[in-house]
Amino acid sequence: MPIPTEPIGSIPRPPQLLAAAADFSAGHMSPERFESAQDSALRDTISLFELTGSPVITDGEQTKPSFATYPLSGLTNLAPDGVVIPFADGHTRQLPKLTAGPFRYATHAAAYLNKARRYTQRPLKQAVISASALSLLYPHEGLHSYSRTAFLDDLTNEAIRDIRECLDSGAHCVQIDFTEARLALKLDPSSNLLNSFVKLNNRVLTRFSDADRSRIGVHTCPGGDRDSTHSADVDYAKLLPVLFQLNVGRFYIQLASERNRVSVLKTAALLLKPGQILFIGVTDPINPAVETPEQVRDRILEASAIIPVESLGTTDDCGFSPFADDTSTSRDTAFAKIRSRIEGTRLANAVLRI
Ligand SMILES: [Zn+2]
Repeated sequence: MPIPTEPIGSIPRPPQLLAAAADFSAGHMSPERFESAQDSALRDTISLFELTGSPVITDGEQTKPSFATYPLSGLTNLAPDGVVIPFADGHTRQLPKLTAGPFRYATHAAAYLNKARRYTQRPLKQAVISASALSLLYPHEGLHSYSRTAFLDDLTNEAIRDIRECLDSGAHCVQIDFTEARLALKLDPSSNLLNSFVKLNNRVLTRFSDADRSRIGVHTCPGGDRDSTHSADVDYAKLLPVLFQLNVGRFYIQLASERNRVSVLKTAALLLKPGQILFIGVTDPINPAVETPEQVRDRILEASAIIPVESLGTTDDCGFSPFADDTSTSRDTAFAKIRSRIEGTRLANAVLRI
């Protein structure tokens, strides 16, 4: 079987959509006109995705505000001053903070999948945010009439529903975005925080069958916002043994931008269980230079000497624009990198005769 290749999720939004979003939030655009701007970006992105020849595509997350906060748009029980995530270049992103229970998602990911399905027959992948990322919404000081335990029960149920609806709607696979895994080790080198995140995410995953879990994966990376990372300095060797405790069938790991790819692959090879697929990043969305198909091919051949080919897949290191307002990468560059990934994977298949 040829090596499977999949994107992570996001594609930079077109300028017209960003301008429409600004007008809409300032109250200068009707909801109908904004929806039509969203639809046109979605249609355009899907048709460009199809042109790359990608066997599996996404909606480019054109209408997600961000990979992490899509369940929250419109909720009224949030304050703006939650956890702050610092990036290496000095910029920060801040999560909101829950002010009252109960916690429910305002939007579930299947809504994006079902909309994208109107415009394509290709296999569609859908990304969802991890329960562990959203667990950061609960305030440190607690909430008067809504305990942390009650919050985690509600969050677990919502995260299960988020994945279940995507599987039931025919998603090719569902990817849990777990970008805070490596960050957790930076915030708490003792691994306690990371272990608690994995435990919470496994609480969600236990509610699925083995057949479901073969369609469920997890993505980890050191963050990729405005061409900067939040945890690239954390040692992969410390992250991978905990990450691989997640009860999933697929791992989508950043690798192209990693300094010592061989050592990461060797660690992963020891942790991978039969039936699991390791999708390695072969293009780097943070680096503006577009990889050649030959470079991609060579990265795959390097990996195929360490990981059994039947357990190997390829992906991009991260989404190309996980936050809607991130315009550090152009759409042209994103699609050029995707084309190189697909062509490079085809070249590797030819060398490996699979
Ligand atoms: Zn990522």
